[in-house]
Amino acid sequence: MSDQIQPQPGIMDIALYVSGESTIEGRAEVLKLSSNENHYGCSDKAREAFLRAAQALNRYPNTDHGPLRRAIGEVHGLDPDRIICGVGSDEVLQFITQAYAGPGDEVITTEHGFSLYPILAHAVGATPITVAEVDRCIDVDAILAAVTDKTRIVFLANPANPTGTMVAADEIARLAKGLAGRALLVHDGAYAEFVEGFDGGASQVDDHANVVMTRTFSKIHGLGGLRIGWGYAARPVIDVLNRIRQPFNLSEAQMAAAEAAMRDTEFARRCREDNIRWRDWLRNALVQMGIACDPSHANFILARFADADEAEAADKALKDSGILVRRVTGYGFPEGLRITVGDEAACRRVIHALGQFKGVR
Ligand SMILES: *Cc1c(COP(=O)(O)O)cnc(C)c1O
Repeated sequence: MSDQIQPQPGIMDIALYVSGESTIEGRAEVLKLSSNENHYGCSDKAREAFLRAAQALNRYPNTDHGPLRRAIGEVHGLDPDRIICGVGSDEVLQFITQAYAGPGDEVITTEHGFSLYPILAHAVGATPITVAEVDRCIDVDAILAAVTDKTRIVFLANPANPTGTMVAADEIARLAKGLAGRALLVHDGAYAEFVEGFDGGASQVDDHANVVMTRTFSKIHGLGGLRIGWGYAARPVIDVLNRIRQPFNLSEAQMAAAEAAMRDTEFARRCREDNIRWRDWLRNALVQMGIACDPSHANFILARFADADEAEAADKALKDSGILVRRVTGYGFPEGLRITVGDEAACRRVIHALGQFKGVR
């Protein structure tokens, strides 16, 4: 018998998260379109707030995140007492899983869902259950059919990563009702700000006590490197999550930058408008080349090639032009490449390289 000390059940079932590549061997400069980052950086005001926070690095941070929660509440029209902040939305998703699922429980994710969800389920000893999608869209009936008396959490991202597709509000409401009293519905709104006029699921939280919305500063706010996210839920749920949150989980620098980013609604608006414009241009250009892609609601496009071989060759052609995109084999798309929408120059470079690859330009 091994004398190794064994970890908790589930831990060794975790397949390590693979992040988007950031370097190409032999190339000093790369165009990184592999992690859905904001091509325009972040708000200048966020950077200034971060630098100001460097004056007091000896001080412990505020533990209740009050100023940041109030800023989020003001900008989104939400009750700050029903907001919790974390080290990226990843940490908020972790609080939810840790608080509501354990050994013997089931956590539902979907066929092309975000790869962090099964990792979180395994980490608490729960069993991730993967439900099929229909044409790369989440299927509410299939999810409801998979619910058992062991189901505790259903995770979905809306818009979804890596498909960029969305579920309609009435379908989310139907799912929330079907899960009421049985399981939490986690509505991950990491890309919500890219959808004009979308509340990211906040009204679903107000209408259904079992819905939790998570949001992030990593995407439209361009602060992926700083690690800040937040969640919005009914007060009893927030009270539960706060019990397992470490009191000093966020530094003053994180909170100050996030607060300034949240209040710089003009920066976010410009990013949203530019993203919509160049995303639609990019998709049209791909479709014209015969590369399949669904309309995307996020800041990336899932390009689907004829097969895995063509996707691999296209990935190599892009790399040879200094462009990094994301292979999504692990998400059930061996034939796919997920391409983050950059600015005009970035999108034109992608289309130029793929045009040469396809021999159409
Ligand atoms: C990028 C992303 C997040 C954000 O994670 P952070 O921890 O906030 O950086 C959450 N969910 C999905 C589906 C994402 O793609």
